[in-house]
Amino acid sequence: MNKKDILFPYDELRKGQEDFIVDVNNSILFGGKLIGSVPTGVGKTVSVLSPLVSFVLDRNYCGFFLTPKHTQHKLAINTLRLIKERYKIKFNAVDFIGKRFMCGQEGVAVLSNGEFHEYCRDIREKGTCDFYNNCTNKKSSAKKELLIERLKELGPLHVEDVCKLCIDEGFCPFEISCMIAKESKVIIGDYYHILSTGVRDALFLKINKSLDKSILIFDEGHNLISRVRDLMTVNLSSFILDNAIKEANNFHYDEYADILNELKNKLENLNKDKLSVEINEGLVKKQDFIFNEQYIQDFSIIADEVREVKKRSFIGLVGGFLEAWLGGETGYARILQRGFLKSGKVNISLSYRCLDPSLITKKIIDEAYSVIVMSGTLLPLEMYRDLLGFSDVKMKEYDNPFPVENKLSLIVPNISTKFTKRNEEMYKRIANEVSEIVNNVPGNVAVFFPSYNILKDVDRFTVIKKTGFYERQGLTKEERDEVIEKFKSHKDHGGVLFGVSGGSFSEGIDLIGDYLKGVVVVGLPLSRPDVETKELIKYYDDKFSKGWDYGYILPGMTKAIQASGRCIRSETDKGVIIFLDERYTWDMYHRCFPKDWDIKISKLPVERINRFFTSK
Ligand code: SF4
Repeated sequence: MNKKDILFPYDELRKGQEDFIVDVNNSILFGGKLIGSVPTGVGKTVSVLSPLVSFVLDRNYCGFFLTPKHTQHKLAINTLRLIKERYKIKFNAVDFIGKRFMCGQEGVAVLSNGEFHEYCRDIREKGTCDFYNNCTNKKSSAKKELLIERLKELGPLHVEDVCKLCIDEGFCPFEISCMIAKESKVIIGDYYHILSTGVRDALFLKINKSLDKSILIFDEGHNLISRVRDLMTVNLSSFILDNAIKEANNFHYDEYADILNELKNKLENLNKDKLSVEINEGLVKKQDFIFNEQYIQDFSIIADEVREVKKRSFIGLVGGFLEAWLGGETGYARILQRGFLKSGKVNISLSYRCLDPSLITKKIIDEAYSVIVMSGTLLPLEMYRDLLGFSDVKMKEYDNPFPVENKLSLIVPNISTKFTKRNEEMYKRIANEVSEIVNNVPGNVAVFFPSYNILKDVDRFTVIKKTGFYERQGLTKEERDEVIEKFKSHKDHGGVLFGVSGGSFSEGIDLIGDYLKGVVVVGLPLSRPDVETKELIKYYDDKFSKGWDYGYILPGMTKAIQASGRCIRSETDKGVIIFLDERYTWDMYHRCFPKDWDIKISKLPVERINRFFTSK
């Protein structure tokens, strides 16, 4: 492979990288599809962006590099800048995040996506958004052109820089980015920009792109399945209805306050009919919750009026739910649940939940010119093929570039967090194992539990000689970064980070070098066997005869392996990864570990840990 042909910006290729680049290049050249399990360290971002840029440069195609989180955009933009500088080539690229995060208006970040789009549309139509007006006025046209030229010259730029420059000049960053995107060869975006049909259609129309001329790259692809399900799921709750009733009263829509009260009564009656003191969730049918379909349109009109005054409308949320509730049955479950609000008040919720992501992704995959899904944790590849709806696709697990001897991977089968085995005695045993391991790893250790409750139950009994840092539910990005920075500062005397598998510390944080010397994954982070999980198992059993694997076991194993991946982030990192649960030795779970992991089973982990860290 000639590095110049694919505009590779570094001097050296890493182990496994060339193999991956060749497959990416072939997929792009021949309009193919690829699902790649690409271990950390291969250099995924540069491996896809180099062949992508070289392909789109003189062709009428556009590459979309899509991520589940904004934080991953930085590396992509930096890589594009590197390619541009190294090969002295000119091309435009744009970095998009959710429109509300790019918006120049104050106070919009608290709105939901749907609410924000209504708000933005509303003030554009009324001519009260000056940022937008400047983008469309003839008067500001010369200033706008100058700004666009400057951004193209400086680019590709991070979205934060684009937003700052645009807002300082009085222009809407999203509108200006769309203008540049029309001439761009690469777009960095969120999954949502492509997965949401409404958002994609509107964006494509504005930036003059189409799926058949697009190369879609989904980074951190293990998130795709849950992201699509969440995107296609809607909820209605007593909380939303109470707020909608207040809103109707405040805006003097007395008749609609009565209608909303009626809907609330229906929800409460459903609770009485379908649930009991012992059973707090169950399946319902579309006909269990019927209403006059005219409400959908009426609520939408009222919500528009509400948003003129206060940006957010609960009546709009109710209207959105009613519209979705009329949708089809295949691939969805209708679930009624009873829970409690923080105030202790009972909250009944009704949801129309998507079980089958391929209802959305299959069409996208079939229509796009080329699709690449990649992640360090994408096993088994067949599951992603089946669940996302790929038909003709190359699937491959790439070699790990890091020396095997730098990592000690152990399964310690001494405990279990299986529901039937959870009791005080077991929590003490887990605490004992965790304490022993953490105290014997020289340096920082992260310990991930299957849930916050188990973390709390075990933590009462741990005896750890290191400073503890704890993940809390609902941490903001700033709070999360603060905890990580403090944890990192303990690398010499040792700190311990307690988190949850699938939580905010188990993914997307890089603790390279001495910042993390060990990870302990306590128990198996399986989903609760609730109604949704049972429906998933049933659905995938009917569709693929793999209900337990696809609906229960494999998503749990993905979370565990993802959490363990925080440890070895560079080729010189040395660390231990301990899976603490007897079930990891069972074949149904054990087969999910990557093929090149030299994973050992040990009842005496401390001896092995000490040997590992004292050996050269
Ligand atoms: S047009 Fe732009 S600045 Fe105005 S509300 Fe919409 S996103 Fe915000």
